[in-house]
Amino acid sequence: MQQQKIILVTGGAGFIGSNCVVNWVQSGTANVINLDKLTYAGNLENLAAIEGHAHHTFVHGDIGDRDLVSRLLHKYQPDAVINFAAESHVDRSIHGPEDFIQTNVVGTFHLLEETRAYWNARIKANPAEKENPCFRFLHVSTDEVYGTLSASDPAFTESTPYAPNSPYSASKAASDHLVRAYHHTYGLPVLTTNCSNNYGPYHFPEKLIPLCLLNALAGKPLPIYGDGQQVRDWLFVLDHCNAIQRVLEAGRIGETYNIGGWNEKTNLEVVQTLCRILDELKPRTDGKSYQEQITFVTDRPGHDRRYAIDASKLERELGWKPAETFESGIRKTVMWYLHHQDWVHHVTSGEYRHWVNQHYSEK
Ligand code: NAD
Repeated sequence: MQQQKIILVTGGAGFIGSNCVVNWVQSGTANVINLDKLTYAGNLENLAAIEGHAHHTFVHGDIGDRDLVSRLLHKYQPDAVINFAAESHVDRSIHGPEDFIQTNVVGTFHLLEETRAYWNARIKANPAEKENPCFRFLHVSTDEVYGTLSASDPAFTESTPYAPNSPYSASKAASDHLVRAYHHTYGLPVLTTNCSNNYGPYHFPEKLIPLCLLNALAGKPLPIYGDGQQVRDWLFVLDHCNAIQRVLEAGRIGETYNIGGWNEKTNLEVVQTLCRILDELKPRTDGKSYQEQITFVTDRPGHDRRYAIDASKLERELGWKPAETFESGIRKTVMWYLHHQDWVHHVTSGEYRHWVNQHYSEK
């Protein structure tokens, strides 16, 4: 990213969005307009490090609010829109898919429509930009759109056919297709990234790693679905942010880039690694291992068996490589949670919602 690009980020108070926004604002690479609905997954405390920063403007709102999106685009004239906003938790999508369709599909459609209008206004004002766009719409998506793999299948590449299996992944797949269509039909300069499972600071404790970490410290069971042999590819969140930055800078318009860490692990291995690091950094008072708390629970319906990402296109074309191994990233993550007990307490007690309730209860 060149100095001080103006970026409209959506979903920048969530896990990945906030890590990226703080990183880009603090490093001086972007001036961010951060549009977030502050659902249960949005937390302004994730953005505390840049509170009051001249290059960060927070806007509370929905990507499906076309008037608001239009006003923001025309007021701030961003060089890019990066769409992180989504409902993101597979289990929630199984129990209540509607919000997933509303935000991930309908919301993305509205965002695309307003971005298309903005893009058309840009090329009307400067026809040369049509051939050589300075603007990008970057859509952040998941490897789950590709479905599930057997143990011997090759990893997902950008040409793997889509076969989403959960309402979450189906809604993300639909949004990816819309983004693609807006490029092919309307010439919108888009980029799409499909990333593997992220972990790191500010991860909401409904997801495997923070849930098990916090349960371990609280002396609670560490729930593992089924036999724990489901394989995921894990990437440290700041490596994801750097990959997005790289794709925005140099990705070819209309292309899709897979992002992954070459870290295939079973869920059981992930939790055992967590326990081993916790045993070392914060031993249990009874001298036993946190592994004693591992409990196997009924599997999630339709649980995909294996995801694996082939990120060689991104490495080859754009020279990106993850900085962290799984071992180094997970250690950083454990240390972050141990040193940010206030954040943990506010999230687990629900206190992080107070700010939203105070400021927005009347809306
Ligand atoms: P998250 O659930 O932590 O955060 C989502 C954010 O979007 C929240 O701040 C929420 O308030 C906001 N939001 C939700 N609906 C909105 C709406 N209608 N308008 C505006 N804001 C809205 O999610 P995350 O884990 O940070 O994921 C971000 C993106 O990355 C998602 O698109 C997800 O599909 C994708 N992704 C996530 C992972 C992962 O491992 N977490 C991996 C690959 C891709």
